[in-house]
Amino acid sequence: TKWVYAFGAGRNEGGAGMRDLLGGKGANLAEMAAIGLPVPPGFTITTEVCTAFYANGRSYPAGLEGQVREALAGLEAATGFRFGDPANPLLVSVRSGARVSMPGMMDTVLNLGLNDATVAGLAAKSGDARFAWDSYRRFIQMFGSVVLDVDHHRFEEIIDEVKRERLVTEDTALTAQDWMRVVEGYKRVVEEATGRPFPQDPWEQLWAAVGAVFGSWMNQRAITYRRLHDIPSEWGTAVNVQAMVFGNMGDDCATGVCFTRDPSTGANILYGEFLVNAQGEDVVAGIRTPQPLSKAAAKPGEVSMEEAMPEVFAELLRVRKVLEEHYRDMQDIEFTVQQGRLYMLQTRNGKRTAAAALRIAVDMAEEGLITREEAIRRVNPASLDQLLHPTLDPSAKRTFLGKGLPASPGAASGVVVFSAEEAEARAQKGESVILVRIETSPEDIAGMHAARGILTTRGGMTSHAAVVARGMGRPCVVGAGGIAVDYAAQTLAASGHVVRAGETITIDGATGEVFLGSVPMIEPKLSGEFATLMAWADSIRTLRVRTNAETPLDAETARKFGAEGIGLCRTEHMFFEAERILAVREMIMASDEAGRRRAIAKLLPYQRRDFVDLFRIMAGLPVTIRLLDPPLHEFLPHAPEEIAEVAAAIGTDAEAMSRRVADLSEANPMLGHRGCRLGISYPEIYEMQARAIFEAALEIAAEAGAAPIPEIMIPLVGMRKELEITRALVERTAEAVFAEKGARVDYSVGTMIELPRAALTADRIAEVADFFSFGTNDLTQTVFGLSRDDAGKFLPTYLEQGILAKDPFVSLDREGVGEMVRIAVEKGRRAKRTLKLGICGEHGGDPASIAFCQEAGLDYVSCSPYRVPVARLAAAQAAL
Ligand code: ADP
Ligand code: MG
Ligand code: MG
Repeated sequence: TKWVYAFGAGRNEGGAGMRDLLGGKGANLAEMAAIGLPVPPGFTITTEVCTAFYANGRSYPAGLEGQVREALAGLEAATGFRFGDPANPLLVSVRSGARVSMPGMMDTVLNLGLNDATVAGLAAKSGDARFAWDSYRRFIQMFGSVVLDVDHHRFEEIIDEVKRERLVTEDTALTAQDWMRVVEGYKRVVEEATGRPFPQDPWEQLWAAVGAVFGSWMNQRAITYRRLHDIPSEWGTAVNVQAMVFGNMGDDCATGVCFTRDPSTGANILYGEFLVNAQGEDVVAGIRTPQPLSKAAAKPGEVSMEEAMPEVFAELLRVRKVLEEHYRDMQDIEFTVQQGRLYMLQTRNGKRTAAAALRIAVDMAEEGLITREEAIRRVNPASLDQLLHPTLDPSAKRTFLGKGLPASPGAASGVVVFSAEEAEARAQKGESVILVRIETSPEDIAGMHAARGILTTRGGMTSHAAVVARGMGRPCVVGAGGIAVDYAAQTLAASGHVVRAGETITIDGATGEVFLGSVPMIEPKLSGEFATLMAWADSIRTLRVRTNAETPLDAETARKFGAEGIGLCRTEHMFFEAERILAVREMIMASDEAGRRRAIAKLLPYQRRDFVDLFRIMAGLPVTIRLLDPPLHEFLPHAPEEIAEVAAAIGTDAEAMSRRVADLSEANPMLGHRGCRLGISYPEIYEMQARAIFEAALEIAAEAGAAPIPEIMIPLVGMRKELEITRALVERTAEAVFAEKGARVDYSVGTMIELPRAALTADRIAEVADFFSFGTNDLTQTVFGLSRDDAGKFLPTYLEQGILAKDPFVSLDREGVGEMVRIAVEKGRRAKRTLKLGICGEHGGDPASIAFCQEAGLDYVSCSPYRVPVARLAAAQAAL
């Protein structure tokens, strides 16, 4: 087996297509080299080695060592340097790289190959002893903490000691001699901590670093990250060994990171930071403040790369163009400049906010880099949610606390917590939390995920907090230097305020501002790229998208988001409002039909007004109204005090009401006296509802404009006869209303399919139905024989053990529930070709379930108002 692949210097054995084998970093290093970009040569040890390593009790496959030695010899030949040669040493970096970029893995080790002998060679060759000894101490420090697990504080203590003795405060004031002393101290620290001298043999160094990368695949941080991001542990990581280039050899050297477009807004500008005379991790570490790349982005006092290194900047712009044209996507790149020459060290598709993803997709389609279909495919439908979410109300009063960098947009309010554990614990209890840290590290990932927003007081736009928050879609402000965090006291102090843990703050990830207390927010605008992409999606999709809505506010929101009708109006939600609940309870308490009719008559005007409002808002679009579904006891009070109060309000006695409550209580309400079973027991209820619908429809039809299209839906039908009876009731009522008013409207009558018996006998039911709407919440409960309210006790275990891949209430179970849907579709359509088919469970807003609906041949999905744009885009993707 080939375990090692070379890249660079004209010997590319890999390419971007080999990401599974070479990891993202290795595959793209080879690809960049192949398209002629300047990449220091090196080689990649494959992910298969990692998999084999763990499959064989942490031992390497046979032949690996030989192949690595051979690749190293190739690298020596390509560079003209020799590993361990005191006169002309080859130095390398050792870098991890999984298929997808994964924080939590081992940190990169730079300058490997340095020892007491080669450091002299490096000094002689570069003519700069200070640089050589600084590089050596960096190497011992990185290797010591990353590979040998020596506490990094111990290294910092040594530097501090030397600085104290030399009476200086800045690293830059230290001389070659000083760094030599630091190296001596470092070596002592390593020997004390590990019981062995610092390894001098470069091959031993290399082999240990490679082992540390493979070992880090199974560390806790990496495991947590994989769990949160559904990354299988079988994927493994690759290891990249690459010839060093030096950004710390003088003022014509630099290191930097950048995005080919703004990852926060998507704007088409080169966006990044660099540091002169610095090496690798200095940019992310926040030791010195990085400077902007382009002059336009420079603030007073900052010196951009465009000004400091104009030729290199021009070269970077050229590389940006080459990369975008080649990858046809926004790239996130890392580079180093050695003596005026630019070297590419990494490229990958850049993480971006939902807003940026949208803008970049639309811009790239308009620039001709990608097709419209590709643009549609590029935007994750679920991420649209973020764009639809509120921002701070500009007119709201606010108390300013501080300001940092706008790292990830969106506004969030929550209680302050200072640790990731606390964030998780409080979020679990349902609290909104803002995680406040000086800076974040990969251990904090679970807490960042649990938080509504993240605030750090240190770090730049490419700091850990910023990158991770954007990926997770959490509002984030970083580098708010004016805010002082005191972990021990559990406080933050800024602008004369002291905020304790547990008190509320608001962050605005779009401006970087932080405020005291919770600031009112407003709805987002839905224009620009959002509207463009939605229009493209609408022109492609074949599934229609409706909304689930009962209130005028929901209906209006959904229309604004592009809903093409109401797929589910749950009339019982209309029964809970203050005044009418009394009439509902009176109806339930009535001892005979006459009493019930009297109470119901009081409900009619309310119900009619509900439908008038909805029909007016939906202006000629279909409105599916489900008649009363839940069991009656849901409308009665249960606590004794409340029973007495309610009894008094409707003029019966508490005892009678207690008895009725007891009568109506059910062993298993989900399968009890509900749905059409109620309509059959108490036809006057459905009759009133039907009357309210038809009277409202006639009222709106009489107004100028489009006539409403009521679709009356009967819940919980399992037998054809149930639908026959209730349908006849609806039709009789319609005729009565039409006769009274001397006018007619078109309407249809259909049923929910939410019981297995209904699905299995769909052909018989279809003969008396105009439409089916799959009520996949109940259908999931009844197909699995699983009550949603009780599933919380064991579903987590089932998901953990892989018995279920996904929560079936979130994403439709294709195998079981999906099969039931397919049967009903097939039988229903066979019996009636014109049968209209839709879905109205929670699944109607879930992209994976929408893809299923497309395959199953449904006509529409219906979802909550905020999911409507998600569904429009998901439906377009499903149609591609
Ligand atoms: P990460 O995955 O954490 O970004 P990398 O492997 O990309 O880690 O390394 C981090 C940084 O180290 C790079 O951005 C680069 O600045 C520096 N680096 C890595 N390899 C080299 C090299 N061969 N020469 C110079 N710098 C390097
Ligand atoms: Mg990197
Ligand atoms: Mg139901």
